[in-house]
Amino acid sequence: MAQLDRAGQAMKLESFTLERMRHPKRILTVSVPVKMDDGSIKVFEGYRIQHNMDRGPAKGGIRYHPQVSLDEVKALAFWMTMKCAVVNLPYGGAKGGVICDPKKMSKGELERMTRRYTAEISIIIGPEKDIPAPDVNTNEQVMAWMMDTYSMTVGYACPGVVTGKPIEIGGSLGRREATGRGVFYVTRELAAREGFDLSKSSVAIQGFGNVGSNAASIFAEHGAKVVGIADVSGGLYDPKGLDLRDVMEYRKTRESVSGYPKAEHVPVDKFVEIPCDVLIPAAMENSITRANADKVKARYIVEGANGPTSNEADAILQKRGIQVVPDILANAGGVTVSYFEWVQDMQSYFWSEDEINARLRHIIVGAFTEVYDLAKKEKVDMRMAAFMVGLGRIGKAVSIRGMYP
Ligand code: NAD
Repeated sequence: MAQLDRAGQAMKLESFTLERMRHPKRILTVSVPVKMDDGSIKVFEGYRIQHNMDRGPAKGGIRYHPQVSLDEVKALAFWMTMKCAVVNLPYGGAKGGVICDPKKMSKGELERMTRRYTAEISIIIGPEKDIPAPDVNTNEQVMAWMMDTYSMTVGYACPGVVTGKPIEIGGSLGRREATGRGVFYVTRELAAREGFDLSKSSVAIQGFGNVGSNAASIFAEHGAKVVGIADVSGGLYDPKGLDLRDVMEYRKTRESVSGYPKAEHVPVDKFVEIPCDVLIPAAMENSITRANADKVKARYIVEGANGPTSNEADAILQKRGIQVVPDILANAGGVTVSYFEWVQDMQSYFWSEDEINARLRHIIVGAFTEVYDLAKKEKVDMRMAAFMVGLGRIGKAVSIRGMYP
């Protein structure tokens, strides 16, 4: 809300639009009873929040995590509205989550929880209304269960109800890597505009899940030196550059990268302080805060995660001259290819991977250029500029549609 108010005031946004943006359109809280493997019944709490649908159907991921809360889902849904507007996709924003610890659940328990959660939220989701996707601790398999459950309730195969699905049931080529690829395109563009050589730069990536591991591979493929990676159990650092293929091989048979023997080990809470040119937080919210923003050594931060920089940290980084490419631009590659997946599903006509990556590059580079140029013109940071671009589009849609009734 602080980010919204700052941008709203700077661009003198109509108070009507600002007020609309402060309040999610629809909040659904559901109880999700699940028969556990030991025969007991456990009731989980789940949410689906549609923040805004003025520019099209709502879009946003589903998170499974013990720390999911209504407030967190609200913030994430708001960021989805902004993100879709910044890259100009014809979508509003939504987010969903279930309070659970998927690491402690069996595959059967996860499937039953996903199916019941989907049935409970099926009253508001649908390919023309609200299209979920993966987020933290949800993946292609979870999306397949959601697609199947929704299809069973409507009585026909409905691939367009979720994105991030397996290819075999209407998923898109390139979706798995899309967020990491978008992070790379944004960073390459930043390097070109700021005049630094990415192939001579060191990159550190916090989070080794969908976003972080794919980003790491794509940066390495393009010759950047990935000096640090981390997951929830610990971080690795090698100033000469990590051998990512070897790390991936090591990770194949393990839960975490943290025991990898051929690099220096870094505690999770110190990872953002390692020496590097570009830091990519790609784990959870608030990893850069008032407590460590002074210690960040990177010259640039490209936000792969949603909300990794707190408001106070943002101010400290700005004062220190560290440039931040904000989440709603930097990690928009995922929702962009999700949009392509949905378009392909609606047309039942599928594109090649080259075509998908070329269209992704076009959209992400276009959005980056618009935000970067506006930041320079208005002498504001890129987060403010991204908010101004997004809010401008949403404001126009809200005002053209007018107020019902
Ligand atoms: P994921 O569950 O696949 O991976 C999360 C990773 O973060 C895991 O490796 C986990 O071990 C690690 N992690 C968690 N806490 C950590 C900590 N304190 N320190 C270091 N590592 C930690 O999730 P994901 O899909 O990769 O999402 C990561 C972030 O990117 C989230 O903020 C998500 O909202 C955002 N995001 C994801 C997508 C997408 O397409 N998946 C798109 C846009 C934004």
